[in-house]
Formats: sequence, C-alpha cells, structure tokens
Amino acid sequence: MLDKENLKLLWEALGRLDEGFAELPEFAGQVPGKNRISEVLGAVADRLRDNYPYCHPLYAGQMLKPPHPVARLAYSLTQWINPNNHALDGGRATSAMEKEAVAGIAAMLGWHEHLGHLCGGGTMANLEALWVSGRLAPEKRILASEQAHYTHGRISAVLQLPFAAVECDARGRMDLSKLREELSRGDIGTVVATIGTTATGSVDPLPEILELREKFGFRIHADAAYGGYFGLASNLGEAARHAFDVLGRVDSLVIDPHKHGLQPYGCGCVLFRDPGVGRLYKHDSPYTYFSSRELHLGEISLECSRAGAAAAALWATQELLPLAKGGEFARGLEDCRRAALDFHGRLQSDPRFITPFPPELDIVVFAPRAESIHAACELSRKVFNAAARRNLHLAVAELPIKFFAASLGGMKHDRATMICLRSVLMKPEHRDWLGRIWELLVESVDECNMR
Ligand SMILES: *Cc1c(COP(=O)(O)O)cnc(C)c1O
Repeated sequence: MLDKENLKLLWEALGRLDEGFAELPEFAGQVPGKNRISEVLGAVADRLRDNYPYCHPLYAGQMLKPPHPVARLAYSLTQWINPNNHALDGGRATSAMEKEAVAGIAAMLGWHEHLGHLCGGGTMANLEALWVSGRLAPEKRILASEQAHYTHGRISAVLQLPFAAVECDARGRMDLSKLREELSRGDIGTVVATIGTTATGSVDPLPEILELREKFGFRIHADAAYGGYFGLASNLGEAARHAFDVLGRVDSLVIDPHKHGLQPYGCGCVLFRDPGVGRLYKHDSPYTYFSSRELHLGEISLECSRAGAAAAALWATQELLPLAKGGEFARGLEDCRRAALDFHGRLQSDPRFITPFPPELDIVVFAPRAESIHAACELSRKVFNAAARRNLHLAVAELPIKFFAASLGGMKHDRATMICLRSVLMKPEHRDWLGRIWELLVESVDECNMR
C-alpha cells in the first residue's frame, strides 16, 4: 500500500544537494546512538501500524489526505539542511520558495498584491487574521456562524475580542437575516465567512455578505481552511460557484495546504489583501534581521521558528501541479466532488438512509433511517463499527436536526441533534471506489437493522 519506489528519487536529489557544499572540508557529524537507529525505527514502524489506513480509499472518514509524493520527498530532502523560515539567515532558499508559493495561492484569488505567509495550520492562520482584526477595531465584535470552526470563539477569547455566533439556515450556511440583525447593532468589526464548514462543507453566502459590507462597513475574513482550493473546480453548485467567484474581495483569508493542498501537516496559510497591515507586526528583535534589507518572513508573522521544509514541499507541489483551472490539481478536486455527488445521490434514493442538503464540496453526511431520531443516533454508532469491521472507515458527527428536517418523514422527533455519519471524500480515488464503499455501507446497515 505504501509508496517506496520514490525513495530512489530522494537519494538522487540528496546527492545533488550535497554537491552544492562540495568545497567545505570533510566532516562527519556525531550521531549518538547510531547503532540502534534501525532497531528503534523498526519499533516506530510497529507503533505506526496502530492507525486507520488514512491513505487508502476505504478510509472515508475524517479530513485526512495523503501528501503528494513530491511534497513528502521535498520535505524530507529539506530536512538534511533543516532551514528555519523565521529569518533569511536561517532559511534563504526556503524563504524565497515560501514567498513564491504564497504568491501562487494569492494569484489563485486574483490578488497581484498581498501580504501573507505559511504557518503551522488553520488555527494559527485564523489567529493571525483575527489578531489583525482586533488591532484595527479593538472594541468591536467578531461574528462567525454557529457552524464555523470552534477555533474562532476560542481565538477571540485568547485575543480578548468579543465574539458572537450567528445561526445557520437549514443548509448549514450563515443565516443572512440573523446576520443583518447583529449588524444593525453597529458594533461588528469582522464577519468570518466560512468557505466550506468543517462538518458539512457548507459555503457561507459571500456575495450577500459583501453587499452587507457596503452598507454596514466591517472586515470580512474568509475561513477557507478546508474549502479554499475548490474555486478551481468546474463542477460546483451555483451558490458555491458565486461565493468562490467573489472570494478575492475579502479582506483576509485562511487556506490550509495541509488539507486539500497535498501537504504534510504543519502547513497553513494566511493572506491579507492590503499589504499595509504589515505595519501591525512591527517589533524590534535584537538579534534576527540584520543580514539583509529584504523582507524576513518573521517580520510579518506571529510565529517565529517555522519549518523551511514545509515551504519547500508546497513550492515543489505547486511547481508540479500549478493552481490552475482545468489543470491536474483541479481535476483531483473535481473527482472528489463527483464522488460526493454520487454518494449523496445513492443515499437520497435509498429508503434505508436519510441525508440533508446536497454537498457543496466533497463532504457527505447521512444517517440510517429509524423509527425515531434517538434510534437513528444509536444506529449511526453501530453502523460506524460494523463498517469499520469491513475496513470501511467513516466518521461520526453531531449536527442540528434542522439539517435533516426535509428527509425525516415520519421519524419521531425526540432529540434536537442528530448523531450521524460523515464522509470526507478527499481522495480523487474515492470517485472510482464509491461503488465498493456503497456495497460495504449497505452490508453494514443491513447487518445493524437485522439485530
Ligand atoms: C481545519 C479547519 C480549521 C483549523 O485548522 P487546523 O489546520 O486544523 O489548525 C479552521 N477552520 C476550518 C473551516 C477548518 O476546516
């Protein structure tokens, strides 16, 4: 199952990298414990077996996607140097690669000018965006939908910014009438628009939120940690398409290359449309920035040390698979969408299941039909286990019952939330595996219904 072929390419590239330092005097570093490396590494391999098979298409549960081999190899290769992208002294080449890779993401939004950088992940990236919001409007509230990532409430608390959640409609999108009510109070600094919620992949109505910005004046931060790349896909539904078409008009945006961008963990990205916000980061480090007048990324980042390897991996991936509509990378996203639409279609036409609105991205939620909501919740957990015994790995989620309202039929209303199953179909291979996934799911549900 695991790719070993490509290790030859790493060997070759290491030789080429080594040649670059050929003029240095011979030196062999001290490696304490080197006689036992093999033994310990074997023990690591044994420990790592205790994982779900994330890279296999029968893993169709949480948000996990294998990195592209070129990302894995570029990351590994870079670790022989281990540059630090905090300052140019620590990571000259990889700082340049980071600037280029981030400019590539900005170009995907249609931005020719921007301020931005990579960071540990979506949480850190959102923290930075809301930190800027708070610096610009210290007393004002932050709004995000009740389906926004829980991190926004927590980050606001860390930053000591007042935060409120806006109700969602039956499709998991921010409810505009509720948003208008909040805005009319006149104390909103930033509205977080989630472009692909973590639970259901719902896309907040960005065109309408932009119109409200004209009237009320606030910042818009797009949390596109999960969904950001889907603007490249040609098979979005109409509402999502409209939102992606105006995504470049937000003030700041977060996207996670370690989600749909084929990167190993440790790669988030925050972008600001106005490079002028860089002034807010100003600080006086007594030791870091003296080797060059060029921009050191640490001057525009809250995190200090950051892996240059993450930048090399992202740069390599974008070099191989440019972020272009109609390209190979976009086709991968389109395949994920197709898998999700296929799955949703099957669920909808099968009386054994209930499923809410059609997926806007590639996340599908559903539950087994039962006589009551309570019974459906119990059944969801059983199906999760029955499917896992067949090597089909799903996820469990708890969602407001209003998402399922249209499909409940005569089910007894004895709970306010539904514990349901959730499938994030992030691998393009899911498209071809959907038939097999469906067979295993149906077998699992039939088994649980018989008991
Ligand atoms: C995953 C996610 C986050 C958090 O990002 P991490 O990379 O896990 O820190 C924030 N917002 C959304 C919408 C997400 O999907």
